[in-house]
Amino acid sequence: SKREGFATIPDVSWEDIGALQSVREELQTAIVQPIKQPELYAAVGISAPTGVLLWGPPGCGKTLLAKAVAAESKANFISIKGPELLNKFVGESEAAVRRVFSRARSSVPCVIFFDELDALVPRRDDAGSESSARVVNTLLTELDGLSERQGIYVIAATNRPEIIDEAMLRPGRLETPLFVDLPGADERVEILRALLRTKPIGDDKETIISMARTSACDGFSGADLGSLTRQAGHHALSRRSMRLDYADFQFAATRIKGSVGEMARYYK
Ligand code: ATP
Repeated sequence: SKREGFATIPDVSWEDIGALQSVREELQTAIVQPIKQPELYAAVGISAPTGVLLWGPPGCGKTLLAKAVAAESKANFISIKGPELLNKFVGESEAAVRRVFSRARSSVPCVIFFDELDALVPRRDDAGSESSARVVNTLLTELDGLSERQGIYVIAATNRPEIIDEAMLRPGRLETPLFVDLPGADERVEILRALLRTKPIGDDKETIISMARTSACDGFSGADLGSLTRQAGHHALSRRSMRLDYADFQFAATRIKGSVGEMARYYK
């Protein structure tokens, strides 16, 4: 199994992601193309990679997008959760940040994904703590060093962009913010279609997929549609079927409550 913090090429493709078309196109231009055709970018004098900040409500595909970017570029992927790097001993977090970049340097091309970035780099004034300011500074130094070399791309994700230290977002750092929104009815259909792509479904596949458009799935995130699919799978097995039918999804929908209520707290 894959250990966090180590470089591997993920097995997620654009096909596994529903909706989010414009975010995908932006990532294709900002990261996938430059990794695939560095000579084009060098020819027009663009050498510094651009960092991307994916922001938006939980469970809407930020991690999935970052993995697909690496996979589509055939780049290694190092995934780091912000809170994990925050160590109890003075100096350890900075060393851990430097270690992430040195590991990336030895496995180029490489995408580094910092999930829950807000935990790692809160505004230096707010947080007040000296050690958190040092972590921010270390990360800034590493990001600024990237302009001199090719092959390392940084994607970060957060649900709380407003609490991130602004210096992180300046040109040459995480300068490209991309909003990953909660899906609307049509997008839920595309997401459920992507989630069911490899699942054993009967003849009523289109009926199942169109359920995502109905009020039964109001306020569902992509992650909620993922749990819907898992619950339907459990229900199919409980009736000793290896195939997911419409009735399994109807049952599952009664068990899942959309996350939108919970998100409203963040995004009012
Ligand atoms: P968090 O902020 O909680 O880390 P996230 O935005 O990174 O959330 P993901 O981890 O990418 O969300 O999504 C969780 C799961 O939800 C995915 O593994 C996938 O099953 C499903 N999912 C979310 N969005 C999509 C989508 N657009 N297309 C297909 N599946 C999705």
